[in-house]
Amino acid sequence: MLSDIITMTSLLLGSILWVEIVRDCYHALSHHWIPLYRLHAWHHRVFRPDLSPVSEEIYRKAHWYNDLPEALVMLTLSLIPGTVFFVESFPYSWMAWGGSIYALTFLIGAITRGAGVPYADELTDITHRQGEFVTLPGNWFVNRPYHWRHHFDNQKAYYSGTLTLVDKLMGTALSLKGKTVAVTGASGTLGQSLLKQLYSNGAIPIAFTTSQSQSIAVEIEGKKLPIKTLTWQVDQELELTDELESVDILILNHGINVHHERTPEAINKSYEVNTFSSLRLMELFITTVKTNKDRVCKEVWVNTSEAEVCPAVSPLYELSKRALGNLVTLRRLDAPCVVRKLILGPFKSNLNPIGLMSGDWVAKQIIKAAKAGNRNIIVTVNPITFILFPLKEFFVFLYFKLFSRKVKII
Ligand SMILES: [Zn+2]
Ligand SMILES: [Zn+2]
Repeated sequence: MLSDIITMTSLLLGSILWVEIVRDCYHALSHHWIPLYRLHAWHHRVFRPDLSPVSEEIYRKAHWYNDLPEALVMLTLSLIPGTVFFVESFPYSWMAWGGSIYALTFLIGAITRGAGVPYADELTDITHRQGEFVTLPGNWFVNRPYHWRHHFDNQKAYYSGTLTLVDKLMGTALSLKGKTVAVTGASGTLGQSLLKQLYSNGAIPIAFTTSQSQSIAVEIEGKKLPIKTLTWQVDQELELTDELESVDILILNHGINVHHERTPEAINKSYEVNTFSSLRLMELFITTVKTNKDRVCKEVWVNTSEAEVCPAVSPLYELSKRALGNLVTLRRLDAPCVVRKLILGPFKSNLNPIGLMSGDWVAKQIIKAAKAGNRNIIVTVNPITFILFPLKEFFVFLYFKLFSRKVKII
């Protein structure tokens, strides 16, 4: 009995998932193949940045030229699972036609909107409603803030319509193109590698460093490329306020390791640099999130390190990084923009010559995971972290959510 229910549910959900994948692939193709883009362009002509339609005529035309053919493709390809399971005489194969019924609702929605049936758009077109964004872009499900970025951040990203799966697989769940990305700890090994990877991904990197040396340059294809460099000091974070206004993504990557020290000075220094200066910069950055666009395009990434859950052979490094990790979990409950955590294992650097991973490889994996939309980015060779961190993060998140009060920021 239970196995019958599981079979039926799997066929139904699987056929719906198939239709969603078809829609998202068709959408992505529309942005890469001119004949399809000619039809799809109507959809992009419709909306102003506040999602109000430019005109009723263009709004309705867009449904005939874009939504209708898209729904027809979904309906046609939805017949594949039903036919395959029927031919194979699979038990309960009729459930696989569920995807076709699902696709049919989109076809009806497109026709009613194209025909201008009253309230059809309110009921069937929920990702294009106007108004303030009251949630962050969805992680697994597409919502208004998520889809807005497809129209006004980068049309060659954020293709997904309902589930973000296709974007996650294609690495289009986050676009870095044209974004100003500031990296702290920029003169370190990982900082330099991140600047390089960000540049290669179309971002405009800015280096934040506490060392008073000359400006930072990264090597791209054998050429030295100067990067805009700003010097700052721990405890003087407020001086960065103006600069942070124009930053889209802030990557908090600085830190110190006092190794085996345990003096009061070492304790103070570890917490000041690793915990509180990062937290102060994060809070300062959050104050720059003001508009609808900021809420969906600004982000903070915090390198809390694998020391959140694993030994780092340096007690004060672990303590201060764990404090930061927990405070980020607490504050991101109310954050007005996406906050990602970077959980990194030891990599080869001047401070750690025996690290197994290279800074370039780690930076590459961070960017890849961010583009896949991961909110917790784990890059390590230690398999235990992949089990421990998600468990720890979930229970700490749950505990903080239950026993602390919501602060209205958005
Ligand atoms: Zn749209
Ligand atoms: Zn599009």
